[in-house]
Amino acid sequence: MNINEQELSALVQAVLKEMNGTASAPAAKAGAVPKTGKAAVLTDLHKLEVKEYPIPPVGDDDILVKVEGCGICGTDVHEWNKDPFGLMPVVLGHEGTGEIIAMGKNIKCDTQGNPVKIGDKIVTSVAVCGECPMCRLHPELPNLCENAKIQGLLPDKADNHLQGWFASHMLIEKGATFFNVSDMSLDQRMLIELAAVAVHAVRRGTDTGLMPLGATIVIQGCGPVGLMVIAVLKTRGYRNIVAIDGTEQRLNMAKRLGASHTINFREYNSVEDKVAYVKGITHELGADFAFQCTGAPPAAAEVWKYVRKGGGLCEMGFFVNNGECSINPHFDICQKEITVVGSWTYGALEYPDTISFVKQCCEMGIPLTDLITHRFGLDELNEAMEVNVAQKGLKIAYVNKEI
Ligand SMILES: [Zn+2]
Ligand SMILES: [Zn+2]
Repeated sequence: MNINEQELSALVQAVLKEMNGTASAPAAKAGAVPKTGKAAVLTDLHKLEVKEYPIPPVGDDDILVKVEGCGICGTDVHEWNKDPFGLMPVVLGHEGTGEIIAMGKNIKCDTQGNPVKIGDKIVTSVAVCGECPMCRLHPELPNLCENAKIQGLLPDKADNHLQGWFASHMLIEKGATFFNVSDMSLDQRMLIELAAVAVHAVRRGTDTGLMPLGATIVIQGCGPVGLMVIAVLKTRGYRNIVAIDGTEQRLNMAKRLGASHTINFREYNSVEDKVAYVKGITHELGADFAFQCTGAPPAAAEVWKYVRKGGGLCEMGFFVNNGECSINPHFDICQKEITVVGSWTYGALEYPDTISFVKQCCEMGIPLTDLITHRFGLDELNEAMEVNVAQKGLKIAYVNKEI
């Protein structure tokens, strides 16, 4: 056989490539466990530092995941700013998802009872204690547990530093709740936790009996939470959704997700003008129901004005203490007989409903994943927090760029 130098070189290259591919295959294979993992640790206010930790042994009831990504929550930003939970040093990130690369022999199914295996993609949810006064008095309201636990908001442990999703790997220990979401895209999976907040709030609203499908519903505030509520309402069949915000980008997104009307509050001189607009599209009555989705006290004081007599209101914007606001109980509550509900996070068993909702958006052509506007790597999370604080995008996410 005659072979020239060029062909020989190509042949050698091909053989080498093949050999390298074979040699590196075991490390890349599902189930391979590296010795160390990286995590962005909040070591001080405004300071996330990437550190490398040994990967702890995987116990019989534990799951080791390779992290693919994690949405950044307002709670994470708040921790980065002020550490209100006193968790520092902590590995944050609770809206994450990743692939199971090792698991204990007792792990057979997820919290819903679906089988899981190595290579499956999962999300985690909250776990309740079952023993505190709230768990005893209100087992139907697991979101009120006084000792609820969620990955990404756990105190650091000497034998397991990898307990938050802002990492390359995470060891999920016994007692956690998790769901197999292998049939969903990374972007869809990163939105599940946020979606659960909205699904829970809409259920709080519909439980009042004041939200028939023909209702006109005001959404005050179109950050990720308010936008998610709009999408949930759209998938449930609501057609009259009024979105209020001061940013055109957010209002445009509100329309794409299902809002029928938008109010840019910067274009109105007074609350009365905005209320007049809502009355104008509701036969001079006012909205049947409203969701307050901002953490701004003036907005929380204003939202009552949009609701008609006999209507309802869900307050879900104050996940952190942003202070007080004043209302007039005579006009705002008594005279109108408004029914008010609060909404606080969600229970793990609301995840199956939430997961269906996220898939349904895709089926209905609702561009839910367009909510994710920015993606940052592990070593760029301080910048991600700054973008979040500056409200430059919609949903900001950490994505593991090393896989
Ligand atoms: Zn969150
Ligand atoms: Zn409890």
